[in-house]
Amino acid sequence: VVSRQKRVVMGNWKMNGSLSSNSELIAGIAQRMSQIGGATDVAVCVPFPYLSQAADLLKDSGVSWGAQDVSARESGAYTGEVSAPMLAEFGCRWVLVGHSERRSLHGESDAEVADKAAAALSKGITPVVCVGESLEERDAGQVQAVIERQLKPVLALGDDAVARLVIAYEPVWAIGTGRSATPEQAQEVHAFVRGLLPAGAKGIPLLYGGSVKPDNAQVLFGMQDIDGALVGGASLVSKDFMAIAEHG
Ligand code: PGA
Repeated sequence: VVSRQKRVVMGNWKMNGSLSSNSELIAGIAQRMSQIGGATDVAVCVPFPYLSQAADLLKDSGVSWGAQDVSARESGAYTGEVSAPMLAEFGCRWVLVGHSERRSLHGESDAEVADKAAAALSKGITPVVCVGESLEERDAGQVQAVIERQLKPVLALGDDAVARLVIAYEPVWAIGTGRSATPEQAQEVHAFVRGLLPAGAKGIPLLYGGSVKPDNAQVLFGMQDIDGALVGGASLVSKDFMAIAEHG
């Protein structure tokens, strides 16, 4: 069971980085991590080719690492895919599944996202299941219907599985736009998500994502059902990323 007692601040590097820029970024994160101690769980989700670099540079830092996607299949003729057993070999603690960019650019269905979460869980990797509505859906008053639809096959994995997940609420209109959801908007959805969880899984971490920055993290983290953040743009600057973590 994953517990929300410790705040989780997770970076999503997306398709950014290079061997040299990563080593600088990681050094900055690790150095600041040693100052903040263990109060917050800090993690980075890096592009596949850099997993071994992240594993090497982060192994004694207290910062964990993960990937941004995983195949639902274990092995075989799936050109271009990366399996959960492979991620496990590189020490991944986390994997994002169903990020809105995967859903929209790669047509990932709700059912496929749930299958990916199950594949990760089977290897002891914690899936971070990303959900969120588009602006059109919000304007049409469909936020709860969309979130419920996205989570339905995930919840069908069973109570034991759900108790080992992290869920990230990322409204699509807030991702990379500089326009974060208000703390109240985010809290409202987080409370709704919490309400959908089975009794044994009420305490899993619910992260907010979408234009989280050092100057809005603290008030977001002050909301009752916001247990941390999934951070895109600001996770590429160690000072900003760790400032978000320090607000925890
Ligand atoms: P952002 O991205 O922080 O750049 O808005 C968040 C995400 O897509 O996970």
